[in-house]
Amino acid sequence: MHMQTPLSLDAIYEAAFLTDGDFKIVDCNCRAVEVLRALNKDDLVGRKISDFPSDNEPGADFPTYFQERLTAVPFVVVESRFSRHDGSQFWAETVAHRLSENAHLITIRDISARVESFQRAEEANERLRAAIRDRMEFVSNVSHELRTPLTSMSYALTNMLRGICGTLPGKAVEYLERLHVDVKRLMTTVNDLLDLRQMENGTLMLRCHYIPLGRLLAETINALKIQAETKHQTLQLLPYDCERYVYADHHKLERVFFNILSNAVKYTPENGCITARLYEQNGFVKIEVDDNGIGIPAHALPRVSQRYFRVGEHIAGTGLGLSIVREITELHGGTFKVESPVPATQHGTRITISLPVSQSPNTVIVSDSPHFVEDITAKLSPIGHVFQTAALNKTLPEQLATGKTPARILFDGDLPDEQIIDAVCKIQRHPSLSLVPILVLTDKIEPLVKREYAKWRVDIRPKIISPADLCDLVRG
Ligand code: ATP
Ligand code: MG
Repeated sequence: MHMQTPLSLDAIYEAAFLTDGDFKIVDCNCRAVEVLRALNKDDLVGRKISDFPSDNEPGADFPTYFQERLTAVPFVVVESRFSRHDGSQFWAETVAHRLSENAHLITIRDISARVESFQRAEEANERLRAAIRDRMEFVSNVSHELRTPLTSMSYALTNMLRGICGTLPGKAVEYLERLHVDVKRLMTTVNDLLDLRQMENGTLMLRCHYIPLGRLLAETINALKIQAETKHQTLQLLPYDCERYVYADHHKLERVFFNILSNAVKYTPENGCITARLYEQNGFVKIEVDDNGIGIPAHALPRVSQRYFRVGEHIAGTGLGLSIVREITELHGGTFKVESPVPATQHGTRITISLPVSQSPNTVIVSDSPHFVEDITAKLSPIGHVFQTAALNKTLPEQLATGKTPARILFDGDLPDEQIIDAVCKIQRHPSLSLVPILVLTDKIEPLVKREYAKWRVDIRPKIISPADLCDLVRG
């Protein structure tokens, strides 16, 4: 006996079953007969929907699974293997709708084609991943092979340029210099490739120290000055209020800045302008590099920091620079952002790097003169150190050893030399202080005293020193 419903099941495209409260089939449409390869509806009516699903959980216990969920939601969807009347199987998407207390509508769609193509795509993806792994493997093997000869070429070129083979004609020097630039560029690429490989398999070791970012940025800008001047570009670092420190790998960060700034020089036409800025915001040091060059099209922005991605082929490159920038920055707990055009303008590119700011190093000033301390801290304010004042007494080394290890100890040379030397000697014998550089600022450098200080590797400088020189000395 077929239940009468206002809904004609044959009007439904999917295989459709009407079941009672226990999921026993009371009616179905022709499509259901076709999909389940039954002879007619009578083959199906009277059977339980749980007779059909195969192995796959939760399909294995359809009724319980549906029952539990259908009290809370109007329908439930399950993807599972399904057995046909003839025992063959297919992938099905089964939807159970609750019509009333004792009536359910179940539809089944054959999704074998979709599942198979998904599986094929997954397999293709895996093959692609394997191919990429192989390519990376190959590239890093080749890079390794290249590094040794490149290093010796660079060494030979440096020696020849230093005159080890005698004075060379001007033209030869010019060619050697060009060669050297190219060899160094190749070495950078080779190192980039090796770093990428190590980042990929998680073996890249960072050698972290407290790095003064402003200084590192200024040095990188200096290294690129000639390149920018050749293109008549302005390349500048805007003045910043005080030095900021991050705990980072010096060489890796240098590479980050170099890649960003050399891109700015490369993708900015003649007479362009490149400006770097450094500031602190919410516990992060931000380095922002703006250029007014060719910019990056909006569609390419999300991809520029992917490996090997490049926009156009008119300027040579490998497309690795920004991926190194992003990956190294992230490895340091920072973030990378690219914007084009530069906000509030119509052209150029802005790259922003954010790195977690670290504690500043501390310099201990040993003096009993407030005037000396004031003068020194004022001169040293740009380096962003934390200053701590200490008195010269017998317990000084112990005092210094209990707090955070100082980055540098600076003595007021007006204090008695014998007492300073005594303190220096104890400091240098102390296991946690032995490597701390010591500086004495004095007006009275006598040869004997000087020799005594030299024995203890103490740096002695005149008290009348320019702020810039003192900053350089203390930063080391
Ligand atoms: P290399 O690996 O030698 O650095 P590259 O410069 O092409 O090669 P990336 O530094 O990764 O590679 O940069 C990726 C792409 O992003 C570049 O090809 C360029 O199209 C675009 N791009 C990067 N920086 C800038 C910029 N400052 N202005 C305009 N386009 C840029
Ligand atoms: Mg680049």
